[in-house]
Amino acid sequence: MISRSRWLTVVAVLSLTTQPALAQERPLRFFISVDMEGIGGIGTGAMTTSTGKDYSLGRELVTAEVNVVVDAILERLPDADVLINDSHGDHQNLHHTDLDPRVTYIQGAIKPLGMVQGLDGSFDAVLFLGYHAKAGDPDGFLAHTGTGSVKGLWLNDVEVGEGGMNAAFAGSHGVPVILAAGDSAAAHELGTQLGAVTITTKTAETPESARLIHPERVHELLAEGVDRALDRLARGGFEPFYLGSPVRIRMRFASTTHVDILMSIPGMSKVDGFTVAYTAEDADQAYRLIRLMYRFVQS
Ligand SMILES: [Zn+2]
Repeated sequence: MISRSRWLTVVAVLSLTTQPALAQERPLRFFISVDMEGIGGIGTGAMTTSTGKDYSLGRELVTAEVNVVVDAILERLPDADVLINDSHGDHQNLHHTDLDPRVTYIQGAIKPLGMVQGLDGSFDAVLFLGYHAKAGDPDGFLAHTGTGSVKGLWLNDVEVGEGGMNAAFAGSHGVPVILAAGDSAAAHELGTQLGAVTITTKTAETPESARLIHPERVHELLAEGVDRALDRLARGGFEPFYLGSPVRIRMRFASTTHVDILMSIPGMSKVDGFTVAYTAEDADQAYRLIRLMYRFVQS
C-alpha cells in the first residue's frame, strides 16, 4: 500500500500553487499501458491485426489517443514523467515517431512483464488505454484474456481479465490505476473492479462488431477523464488493487494438452482437464508465471 507520506507528496505536487517547494521535490510518474481493441474508432479485429484491412488507420488512431492523454497530463503537470508501454499483439503498434516527444516508449513483446513491463513502485499512477473485457464477456468487443487459448483467469477466486491482472501487478507495487478506457464492457469491468475513472470508447454490437463513438469525441472524453482522475489523485482518492499474499492463480484453457504441459512446472496442480492452479507468493510473482503460462507456453 502507499504510505501516507507518499500520498501527501502526491497531493502537494498536484497543488502546485500552494506547495512549490514540494512540487520540485519529485515529478509525478505515470505509466500508460496501451492495448488496441478498445481504442476509439476501431470497430473490427482486422484493424488491430498487422495484416488486416485498415491496420494503418488503427495505428494512427492508437497513437493519436495516447497523445491526447499525454497532453492532458502534461498540461496540468509539465514536469511529469510519462512512460508508454505498447501492449497489443507484437507490441509494435504505435507510430512512435509521432508520439509526444516528452514521453518514453517501450516497444516489442519479448518481455517477461508484457503489458506492465517497466512498471514498478516508483510510479504514482497507471492508465489503461484501448482495453477490452475479459474472456467470455457476452457484452464485450473482441473480449479475451491474454490469448484465445485462455478461457478464464481467477486470482484469489476473483475472475479477472487483462485489466484486473495488470492492476493486481501494479497494486503489488502500491500503484493505483486511475483511468481505464475501452469498450463499454471493459469500462464496466474495470470501473467496478478497480474503482478507476472509466471512459467508454464504443459499445459492442456483437462480439466482433462495434457501435463506434467518433474518435474526436473520444478524445474530448479522454481529456475530461484525465482531468477528473488527476483531481481525484490529488485528493488521495485511489486505492491500489492489492490482493495480499499469497495469490492463488486458477487458469482455464481451451486445450487439455496445454494443461498437461503446464503440469511440468513444480507446484502446479490440475483442477480439472482444462484448469490448473498455483499458489504464488504475491501478485508480482503470479503475473510473471501467468504471462509464461499463456504467452510462452502454447499448444
Ligand atoms: Zn490487444
